[in-house]
Amino acid sequence: MSGEFIPYGRQIIEDDDVAAVIGVLRGDWLTTGPTVVTFEEEFAAFVEAPHAVAVSSGTAALHLSALAADLGPGDEVIVPALTFVASANAARYVGATVVFADVDPDTWLIDVDAVRGLITDRTRAIVGVDYAGAPCDWPALRELADTHGLVLIEDAAHAPGATIDARPVGSIADFTCFSFHPVKHLTTAEGGMVTTTTAERAARLKSLRGHGIANDFRARESEGTWEYDQRELGYNYRLPDTACALGLSQLHKQPEWLDRRRQIAKRYDEAFAGMPEVQTQVVPDGRVSAWHLYPVRITTPDASKARARVFARMRDAGIGVNVHYRPVYLNSYYRDLGYPEGLCPQAEAVYSGLLSLPMWPGLTEAQQDHVVATLSAALRG
Ligand SMILES: *Cc1c(COP(=O)(O)O)cnc(C)c1O
Repeated sequence: MSGEFIPYGRQIIEDDDVAAVIGVLRGDWLTTGPTVVTFEEEFAAFVEAPHAVAVSSGTAALHLSALAADLGPGDEVIVPALTFVASANAARYVGATVVFADVDPDTWLIDVDAVRGLITDRTRAIVGVDYAGAPCDWPALRELADTHGLVLIEDAAHAPGATIDARPVGSIADFTCFSFHPVKHLTTAEGGMVTTTTAERAARLKSLRGHGIANDFRARESEGTWEYDQRELGYNYRLPDTACALGLSQLHKQPEWLDRRRQIAKRYDEAFAGMPEVQTQVVPDGRVSAWHLYPVRITTPDASKARARVFARMRDAGIGVNVHYRPVYLNSYYRDLGYPEGLCPQAEAVYSGLLSLPMWPGLTEAQQDHVVATLSAALRG
């Protein structure tokens, strides 16, 4: 094992992935062509969503969802504190106010009771994040959203392939956002997808993805006209055919890769069952995680110090541990907006001992044993 670096996650690119991209490079359509449509259709089928819209990143997916939900200044958007900054930034892009909700101390997911307590007459949307790949309590969030007339946005960057009550993530919320960054389940280098439940929302997302121009140039070509009409302020958030070819090839490998992630999680769960100072994420009955990350929480009385020591020891041993995440509002940008330390005590407590261990389909059992042994030794001092 010496000299070999074990990353916490990374892409797997095989010969057939390379061939798929080269095939598109040699063809007629580098962007806005048929591979985009095929990728959207196959991704929609994978998550059992009626519609999917490919975009240039997971962040673009979140931004377009906020736009398509008509969120804007004066609106409050509830977002969990324990997530990547992009989940909250999307609300800021459209001028809305972020209201941070605390997380559950066992699942580390948005706490539905906390959300209920934060709803005011300005609340317009709830953003749920399937942290580490575990689905939020979507039925409870749906009920809350329907009662108060709120839009449900799901940040499923960690969770393609996850299910709740046998329903795949992607088929539940009004908008579900995925990321194809290299560290995620499938990659297009940069890229993302929004799945949505109605044809109207899908059409709006497609318009916003391309400058707010409703019909694309192929439609104009077939109709023999040069005219187009920009109806609203949109963006260029397109995903090229080259990227979609890679995504499509990677999508076909997901069932196998998800199995592997679940085996790895099970082995970690078993290894840590006998270590009381290592808390693992609770995935409630009826939910199946996609295991993007395998986070653990060190629960010794000096958790923060112990975590720093363990982090350094593991990095020294060539193990690429990481921390996901410092509560979003503790970042300078949000502090400058006035969010105080102590706002979400559970998220801060979980964060103080949090550590992400290597989790990706290419991780071998020998590497995993090395990770567990190194963590265990580092905890002992
Ligand atoms: C990766 C990630 C994003 C952003 O995705 P990009 O494709 O990098 O823009 C958003 N939210 C969460 C929770 C993520 O992990």
